[in-house]
Formats: sequence, structure tokens, C-alpha cells
Amino acid sequence: MSDIWQRSSNILFIIFITAVVWMMLGSVNALIFFSIVMLWIVLHHTRHIVALERWLQLSDHTPGSIPAGSGAWDDVFAHLARYVRQHSQSRELLSLALERMRSVTSAMPDGIVILDEHDRIEWCNPVAEQHLGINLTLDAGQQITYLVRQIPFVEYLAARKFSNPLILKQTRQQDMIVSLQLVPYGYNQKLLISRDITRFEKVETMRRDFIANVSHELRTPLTVIGGFLETLSADENVNSGFNKRALALMTEQTTRMQRLVEDLLILSRLENEQNKASEKAVNVVSLLHGILQDAESLSAGRHQIKLNIATHDQLLGSEQELRSAFGNLISNAIRYTPDNGEITINWENRGGQGVFFVQDSGIGIESEHIPRLTERFYRVDSSRSRETGGTGLGLAIVKHVLNRHEARLEITSEVGKGSRFTIWFPAKRLVSED
Ligand code: ADP
Repeated sequence: MSDIWQRSSNILFIIFITAVVWMMLGSVNALIFFSIVMLWIVLHHTRHIVALERWLQLSDHTPGSIPAGSGAWDDVFAHLARYVRQHSQSRELLSLALERMRSVTSAMPDGIVILDEHDRIEWCNPVAEQHLGINLTLDAGQQITYLVRQIPFVEYLAARKFSNPLILKQTRQQDMIVSLQLVPYGYNQKLLISRDITRFEKVETMRRDFIANVSHELRTPLTVIGGFLETLSADENVNSGFNKRALALMTEQTTRMQRLVEDLLILSRLENEQNKASEKAVNVVSLLHGILQDAESLSAGRHQIKLNIATHDQLLGSEQELRSAFGNLISNAIRYTPDNGEITINWENRGGQGVFFVQDSGIGIESEHIPRLTERFYRVDSSRSRETGGTGLGLAIVKHVLNRHEARLEITSEVGKGSRFTIWFPAKRLVSED
């Protein structure tokens, strides 16, 4: 408001002087005086506009390069200088933050690649260059799948399933195993985070090999011990009560160890990625009839076991592995259901998905145990598991078999009422009967 008053008072002052000249020297002189003042004002503004235009054309706008102004232009240039100063300060702060960001991401042990909406590389840190064999200077703007061409990676990127990481074994760096995780952000952009897991994978392989070798080595001695125990048990010369009890106990424990070794070997085979599950159409109905017979002999008439077949659809997969998974669930139902309980085994097609479930009227499981049941050696009640001949590995085997068949396990249970173990097979694995 004060600016408007100042500017207006200047004009009023010129008009007032012009009026005084008019009165003293006549109208012609007043007009000449007024024209000269106006010309001077126009020249004053033009000079400043030209100075401003020249300054705008400069490539580097520093506050020091702003021209000096007089009159109204003094304020304009002072404002401009303040604006330029603030702008260059925030630019400095930004480049400092960027520099700090760059040094942090360079120091990180993980690789980071920024991908745009078309999966083109926008930026990556040096670790990512090393993990993926790319070069930011040469490869920026390139589609990442032109550089990382492994089929599992191309499929992983196309699937857009951001929850699970991908383990990539054949990278451009020989002998390096990297885990890759996509994280979506911004507008269809993605962060690709890579981590060198070579050492971890080597330790895992050693662990798997060790368990497989130990289990394999234990198999023969246990068979020999079991054979001798069987012979001794049948020997009529062993007649003392103590010896008989000792032999029975030794036979029981040897059988338990043999079962444990067998389950460990099954798990090792399932864990070994080179043993790919076969993809044959398995006749689930005849498989379940076979398992039902085993279940009836395990139950020895103590339970009512029913088989409900609602579909004759077959299942793509490995018959041996599916038998092991179904068999484990059914044997658990028998072992954890008191005498006279009911067990149903079911095979259905629900909305295109293959559904296998075992329902029992057994002891049930408290809800806090359910998420951990598929861990190795996890037992709700270890003494009961041992009494009933359990190894603690049954559900771990089931989980591995299901992973290899892209299926999922659902467990619902109520303590004292019973449990239901349901397996959902994806529609693409079903082979319809016609
Ligand atoms: P185990 O050989 O001990 O049975 P599993 O891996 O097969 O080992 O099962 C893990 C645990 O889950 C068992 O120890 C048991 O406590 C519980 N469990 C499994 N199936 C059932 C069931 N049908 N009813 C009640 N508890 C069960």
C-alpha cells in the first residue's frame, strides 16, 4: 500500500510542477516540460528493462551479477537478488543431500537399481553394477532384461509379484549367487535390490549335503541292527523277562531311528532343486484308494475312516511325492484321533481348484501352534508324537511337496473337537476326466 502511495505521489508531484510551470510560463512551456519529464521516465525504464533482459540471458545467475537499479527498479532488483540467493542456497543443499545419498548407497552392501515404468535402468549403485554386470554410464536408459537375460529373471520381472525374492544363480559374475527383490514405488517405478548370498547358499548346501550323507550312512548300520534284533527276538533261547523287554525296547527305538532317517532322506531329496518334481497326470482316486488301505491297517479298526470322492480329476505332479504328502496327513489324523473317532478323506473340485482335505475328530491343535506346525521337529506335544511313532518331520515333508506342486496348505482346528488339513492345488494342475 505504501508503495502505491509513493508511486502515486511521484506522479502527483510531476503534475503539480507541470501546473506551476503552466501558471508561470504558459501552456506551451508546461507541455514541453511534461514531455521532457515523460521521455526521461521512459528512458529510465527502458534502460532497466534492457539490463534485466541481458541478465536473464546469462548462463549463470549469481546474486552478484544482478544489475544495479534506481528508483522503482532498485526494489525489483533487490527482490530478484534475494530470490536468486535463496534459490542457489537450496540448490547447494539439494546437491549436498544428493551427494550424501550417493555416498550412502555406494557404501551399502546391497545393490540398488532404479527402474522406470518400462523396466529401463534410471540409476544404479556400484554394488548393483558388480552384482548384475551392468555399467551405469553405458547402460542407463537400457531395458534391464537386455542386460540380465536369464529366463527366471525375465519371468520374475514380468510376473510383478513383489512379495518373494528371486535367487539367481548364473549371474555374469562367475560363481556368484544373488538374491533379487523388486520393490514398487512412485508412479509404476521399481527398486531392484540385489544381495550377494553366495556364502549363505554354500553353507545351506553344506548343511543339506551333511544331513543327506549322515542319514545315508546311518541307513545300513540301522538295517543290520534291526535285522539282528528281529532274529534275536524270534530266538527261543532268549527267555528272561528282562532280555525280552530290552529287545522289544531296542527294536522299537531302532524302528523309530529308521523312520527318522527315511524322513530325513525324503526331505533332502525334496530340497534338492535338481530333483525336479515329475509332471505326470496322477490318478488321485486310485492313489487315495491305495492310501486308504494303509490307513485302515494303521488304524487297526480303532477309527471310522471314510473316503469321499467328488471328482475324478487327475493331478499333474509326482505320484510318489503326492502319496507321501497325503499319507502324512492321513497318518497324523489317525495318530492324533482317539479310538472310535471319525476321519474323512476328501477329493473335490472347488471352482476349478483341486481340493484335498482330511478331517478328523481328534485332539485338535491350539491356534498359537498352527503357524509353526510345518517347521522341522516342531511338535505340540513331543511325548505324544513319539508314543505314536512320529518323527516331527511329517508336515515339513508335506510343505515341501506342496511347494513343488504350487499348492498351499490350510489348517483349521478346534481343541477337543478335531482338525482339518486342506490342500489347495491350482487349476492349471488339474487334468479333467474327459
Ligand atoms: P509328528 O511326527 O510329530 O506327528 P508332524 O510334522 O507330522 O510331526 O506334525 C507336527 C505336529 O503337529 C505334531 O507333533 C502334532 O502335535 C501336530 N499335528 C499334526 N497333525 C495333527 C492332527 N491331525 N491333530 C492334532 N495335532 C496334529
